[in-house]
Amino acid sequence: MPEGDTIHHLANRIRPVLAGHVPDEVATPHPRFGRAGWPERLAGRAVTSVDALGKHLFLRFEEGLTIHSHLRMSGSWRVLDGGRSRPRTAWLALRRGDREVVQLNGPVLELMTESRARFDQRIAGLGPDILAPEFDADRFLRRLREDDPTRPIGDALLDQRTIAGIGNLWKVEGCFEARIDPWRPAGEVSDAEALAIVAACRPRMQQSAADGNQRRHRRIYGRAGRPCPRCGAAIRERGQWEDNRATFWCPACQA
Ligand SMILES: [Zn+2]
Repeated sequence: MPEGDTIHHLANRIRPVLAGHVPDEVATPHPRFGRAGWPERLAGRAVTSVDALGKHLFLRFEEGLTIHSHLRMSGSWRVLDGGRSRPRTAWLALRRGDREVVQLNGPVLELMTESRARFDQRIAGLGPDILAPEFDADRFLRRLREDDPTRPIGDALLDQRTIAGIGNLWKVEGCFEARIDPWRPAGEVSDAEALAIVAACRPRMQQSAADGNQRRHRRIYGRAGRPCPRCGAAIRERGQWEDNRATFWCPACQA
C-alpha cells in the first residue's frame, strides 16, 4: 500500500500540471466507474491546489469542489507526458496540453464539496500528518495515549487517527532506526521514544516525497534472515496484531 511519502510525491508531480489551470479535458472513461456528470460539474473550473494529507490525495477546484482519492492496495495515479495514450482502464483523466493526469482502479475516488470533506470522519478524524511542514507532536502524543496501551507500538503507529502517513514500511524502518522493538506495548514506550521513531521517519519520508526514491531507505524491510546492518544478528519477521502486517525487526539491537 502506498504510504504518505508516495502520496505527497504524487501531489508534487500532479501540482505543476494542473494547479492554477483549467484542465482542457476532464474524462471518466471507465464504464464501470460510471461517474457521469463529473466532466460537466468540473467544466471551466480551475484546479486551485493539489495536496496530500497522510495517504489521502485532494485535487481542489474553484467554487469548493474537491476530488478525494485513497489508493488502498490497488489504486494508482500516473502523469503521462507528451501525448502518451491514456490507459483504457482509467477511471479519471485530467488533460492539460499534451500532459495528462490519470487515475486507475480507484478504489476511493469521489467528488465532494469542501464542507463535506471537512466533516468526513475518514478525513477529519486523521491524526497529524507526519509530512506536514510543522508536525504537531502534542496532538500525536495525545492520540497515542488515548489508544489501547497494550497494543504493540509498531501497530499503534499504523493507526491513521494517531499519526497520518506511516504505513508498514515506515513503521518497520522507524522502529529500527530508533532501536525500539515494534512488539513493545505502546504504554511502555515513553514520549521521547515515540517521538524518536517519528524523528527517524520524517526526514527520510520528506526526502522520498521530494524525489520518489523510497527504496534506498529500506534497511531491514523484507530482509528476514539477513544480518542486521547495525549488529549482524539475523532479522526476524512475524505478522503483527489484527491485520497481521509483516513486521521485521532485529531481536538483538531493538529493545
Ligand atoms: Zn541489530
